[in-house]
Amino acid sequence: MTVRFALVRSLSLAAFAASLALSVAPARAGTLPRSQDPLIQNMDPSVKPGVDFFKYANGGWIKTHPIPASERGWGIANLVQEQTYLQLHEISETASKSDAPMGSAEQKVGDYWMAGMDSMAIEKQGAAPLKPYLDEIAAIKTHAQLLDVIAKLQVDGVGPLYGSFTAQDERNSNQYLLHFYQGGIRLPDRDYYFNADSATKRIRREYVTHVAAMLKLLGDTPALAQKGSATVMRIETALAKRSRTLEQRRDPWANYNKMSLTQLEAMTPQFDWQRQLAACGITHVDTVIVGQPEFYRQADSLLKVVPLDDWKTYLRWNVVSEMAPRLSRAFDVENFHFYGTVLSGTKTQRPRWKRVLDSEEAGIGELLGQAWIKKYCSPATKARYEKLTNDIIAEYRERIRTLPWMSEATKKRALEKLDHVTRKVAYPDKWRDYSALQLDRTSYASDQIKINQWWFHHEANKLGKPIDRTEWDMTPQTYNAYYDGSKVEIVLPAAAFALPGIPDSLVDDALLYSYAGGSTIGHEITHGFDDEGRQFDEKGNLNPWWTDQDSVQFTQRSNKLVEEFNAFKVGDKHVRGKATLGENIADLGGVRLGYEAFKKTDQWKKGESINGLTPDQRYFLGYALSWLGQRRPEALAQQIMTDVHAPAFLRVNGPVANFPEFYKAFGVKPGDPMYRSDAVRVAIW
Ligand SMILES: [Zn+2]
Repeated sequence: MTVRFALVRSLSLAAFAASLALSVAPARAGTLPRSQDPLIQNMDPSVKPGVDFFKYANGGWIKTHPIPASERGWGIANLVQEQTYLQLHEISETASKSDAPMGSAEQKVGDYWMAGMDSMAIEKQGAAPLKPYLDEIAAIKTHAQLLDVIAKLQVDGVGPLYGSFTAQDERNSNQYLLHFYQGGIRLPDRDYYFNADSATKRIRREYVTHVAAMLKLLGDTPALAQKGSATVMRIETALAKRSRTLEQRRDPWANYNKMSLTQLEAMTPQFDWQRQLAACGITHVDTVIVGQPEFYRQADSLLKVVPLDDWKTYLRWNVVSEMAPRLSRAFDVENFHFYGTVLSGTKTQRPRWKRVLDSEEAGIGELLGQAWIKKYCSPATKARYEKLTNDIIAEYRERIRTLPWMSEATKKRALEKLDHVTRKVAYPDKWRDYSALQLDRTSYASDQIKINQWWFHHEANKLGKPIDRTEWDMTPQTYNAYYDGSKVEIVLPAAAFALPGIPDSLVDDALLYSYAGGSTIGHEITHGFDDEGRQFDEKGNLNPWWTDQDSVQFTQRSNKLVEEFNAFKVGDKHVRGKATLGENIADLGGVRLGYEAFKKTDQWKKGESINGLTPDQRYFLGYALSWLGQRRPEALAQQIMTDVHAPAFLRVNGPVANFPEFYKAFGVKPGDPMYRSDAVRVAIW
């Protein structure tokens, strides 16, 4: 999606979370003992804060907590997630043993869980769940049949050749439109097909080997599999060639190309779009938004020149690759070898029960969420989170009102927009209706297809209807948060406030405003005003509302942040300052708003130390705790190539080095590596 900005705190792809101690402290009932104080226990005192603050704050923990073989990284998000896994495991087990009526949430959770855990049945089925697809692909004899199969695979969640989704029209947020987006490749980003560094070259070689191995598992001879793999690589490379980079995809205007279906058909005559959409069950569409027209022209010209047999190979690869995690061991292991080990450096797979929970979370996460909040998040807790959210937003209001660099005209519009932001906190008031989804225990793969189909129709059914403003795109048990630029809303799941292992009553305000909510809320709310978000008005429409002079001021400031991050290196790769700019602006804003709100507390005003740490020291260390952890080098390289978020340690060292209060708190002086002179320091909010 082009208009969602997540915090993405997790160190793993599936970011769940939660808490023994979902903790927003109403009032401090005691002091955190030194032995339980993560700010003391995680430190590496041998590192000077002015040399590497992240290492100083978190280095002790990192030294003693190596990354488990089954993980691409390990840190605070995993600690939260480990708790959530146990909670969701219990919910799933209980559901599977209940006599819940057919069609109930409990029945669906229990049956999907059992189907996923039944490794004997999965092994016995082997490649059987693929058979209907492979038969259909084998039967393709005409161009029209090829397109029909591509359409069917869109509905079933395989998504070959291109991507489509339903979202609000970026210039008229009152209506949903069908969006077409670049896609069709199965390496994580277009850059993987072209970058010339040795690590990426190796990944390309391994990818070709992997595609061949998968085709062999489908019964191809080694020679045929090798030929097929070269075909897949050729098609995908051609698609990647006309795909946009991470930076280019962040420009909302450039990726907004509204056209009539007739215009799209004229631009891409090989696609019979009327028929293609009808095959997906989508009718009455006359206007669409095409993210990257050059990509569609390229796909169209490929449809003209690539032989049918090559497309059939490409489709077989797409089907087997997409479904491999839910097939028998041979498929699952080969799939993990490439996507887990080669791409992320992970040595072994997570145990099956965790992987099944990952799937449950992604497919029917709200069904789990309804059970989860009953146990782990009360209405009273929700109310406390709401209050904290309102406090941080009030702080932002005050900051905008007094900003020295923004004109009164732009301030007025900014405040208007801020007042329009919907605040969704802890858990939804209304849950998604899954009643059309039917699941049973007979086949994990076929349950997954039913879930994919359900999602496709659920989204497509929105076309032509009023905007559903009640939906959440994250579950309450997710350790993450997001801002939606079209809906103009922040969404803060209950688990985003989790502080593992520390009881509510012992969370001091420094921790509360830095780690457990404050800076997160600040991060999300400022997304509405980052380099991308600021281009949307208070109704969620792409619509310039800044004066030219204020735009210049904003850009001058944000350019400094681009330069700061461009200068950071991870291994032999430079961080991409432009690609990560929106997130870096949000981090800077989050630390600032959390800090300003903290300054209003008694703890800050009294200036009393806890466990030898001053309030300011605790605040900045608390912020560093949000990003406690490390990643494997392979996973870091992947992050730089695919993610708009900078690596965690830079999300600490990057923003804090712009805070005079940080320098003062830790005695950082000119000449220290962390020190940035006044001239290059950035302050936006
Ligand atoms: Zn973000």
